[in-house]
Amino acid sequence: MQQTENMQIAYIGLGANLNEPQKQIEKALLAIGSLEKIVLQVCSSLYRSSPMGPQDQDDYINAVCRIHTTLTPEELLNELQQIELSQGRVRKDERWGPRTLDLDILLYASEQINTPRLTIPHYGIKQRNFVLIPLCEIEPELIFPDGKHIHELLESVGHQGIEKL
Ligand code: ATP
Ligand code: MG
Ligand code: MG
Repeated sequence: MQQTENMQIAYIGLGANLNEPQKQIEKALLAIGSLEKIVLQVCSSLYRSSPMGPQDQDDYINAVCRIHTTLTPEELLNELQQIELSQGRVRKDERWGPRTLDLDILLYASEQINTPRLTIPHYGIKQRNFVLIPLCEIEPELIFPDGKHIHELLESVGHQGIEKL
């Protein structure tokens, strides 16, 4: 992809806990990197984390990657949802139930978006150590759009239930 003026930085949170979750994450990274309007820049290590919500499901594998993209946030969400579907994601009524792949847009430039389809920064970032820890690994000096430093947020969530692979 050619470098263009409207190239933006975005961070994507990846999660999986079904059908060989580690492979699902690796496959998703290949799919993200092969999209025409995305350059995959860096990905964190993989982490194993305890499930959020219903506990009668397997542990999750999580990671965070940084991309450059000329897609708008909505276009990016469309592409990510396509990848989720192509890797067998089935949307169920149960919240936070098991899934082959979850791709969430954590941050998009310094934008703050609140539409029915899209909340950016992702509403869960600040409470989820399985997001903050890998995000901090690749972006240790990150400042959120509200001015908060990532270390400040990390201190309040702790390291419980998460292990670097
Ligand atoms: P959570 O949102 O708590 O992490 P989840 O990722 O399992 O749960 P999904 O079923 O993947 O939830 O997504 C539900 C809806 O969330 C999507 O249809 C999408 O429109 C919306 N959504 C809002 N903000 C975002 C975002 N920043 N990234 C991805 N999806 C988002
Ligand atoms: Mg999610
Ligand atoms: Mg999601």
